[in-house]
Amino acid sequence: KAKREGRNRFQFYVAELNRIVQRRATIERDLRLALQRNEFTLHFQPQLSIDSGQVIGVEALLRWNQRERGAISPAEFIPVAESTGLIMEIGQWVLFEACRQVTEWQAAGLPPVRVAVNISPVQFRHRHLLDSIMHALHSSGVDPQLLEIELTESLIMRDADTTISTLRRLRELGVEVSVDDFGTGYSSLSYLTRFPINKIKLDQSFVRDIHKPDGAAIARTVITLGQTLDMRVMAEGVETYEQLAFLREHGCHEAQGFLFSRPMPGGAIQRLLTDSREDLRLRMLEPAF
Ligand code: C2E
Ligand code: MG
Ligand code: MG
Ligand code: MG
Repeated sequence: KAKREGRNRFQFYVAELNRIVQRRATIERDLRLALQRNEFTLHFQPQLSIDSGQVIGVEALLRWNQRERGAISPAEFIPVAESTGLIMEIGQWVLFEACRQVTEWQAAGLPPVRVAVNISPVQFRHRHLLDSIMHALHSSGVDPQLLEIELTESLIMRDADTTISTLRRLRELGVEVSVDDFGTGYSSLSYLTRFPINKIKLDQSFVRDIHKPDGAAIARTVITLGQTLDMRVMAEGVETYEQLAFLREHGCHEAQGFLFSRPMPGGAIQRLLTDSREDLRLRMLEPAF
């Protein structure tokens, strides 16, 4: 009996593995067509100052609506895009589209909106990174101060010297740099001081666990680290008023999350920033029960 069970389990694993390999192959094939078919869009999620309740920027988040399969999560297709090199073309499109959207908001009369763009490690290490960023800025005419790039902590810690020189050149252009998913890597304090970084983004896993001792300890440590190094600290994935209250009490500067707004298309962001700025600000205040 045990033997039969073992064999069944093995067959189950093989079937499961086949399914994963198939799905990946399908995604790879469809990704190659996605740009031509205009299947990508960007959504934008507001980022707020905890002090003032003002929107200080938005993060651009890539969306893929595949013709037959519908929406596919970036968590699933970005790794495939990275391993196939398609991320270069896709990342270039994201940079262009984010800058284009900023000029569209400007043309509609909104005050300048800063956009944060996620940059994959593969894209960051490419020798054309700076050219492609400058190209997106020049062709759109967007002020470099309105562009921010988000890099993950694990990316910047690898090959630090090259990273630092690339970051310096970006900062010379006027582009802002933030470190995404912060706290999940292993950066030491002394190490971090070497990097020309404007902002660290406390990973959402710690925000989720902020009511537990470990989550709270890490959140406090990251906020203190930011204050010590003169970097802004943004909390991501803020979903509840309790989380916001903790962050405010401990001096976190900025927040982003479903409590304020989900990522939305450019047009919806424009309406939000035109008509509902006050609503967003009110979400910073204690809810009336
Ligand atoms: P990320 O850069 O850390 O982005 C934050 C993710 O958290 C987004 O997921 C966002 O929709 C989600 N989020 C925001 N607020 C909340 C909240 O309150 N609660 C919860 N549970 N989630 C929240 P999304 O859009 O699915 O993106 C996942 C990841 O995919 C991103 O993580 C980023 O690493 C990557 N990604 C997205 N767009 C791009 C892109 O254009 N280029 C690259 N290279 N990576 C991208
Ligand atoms: Mg990000
Ligand atoms: Mg993140
Ligand atoms: Mg993340």
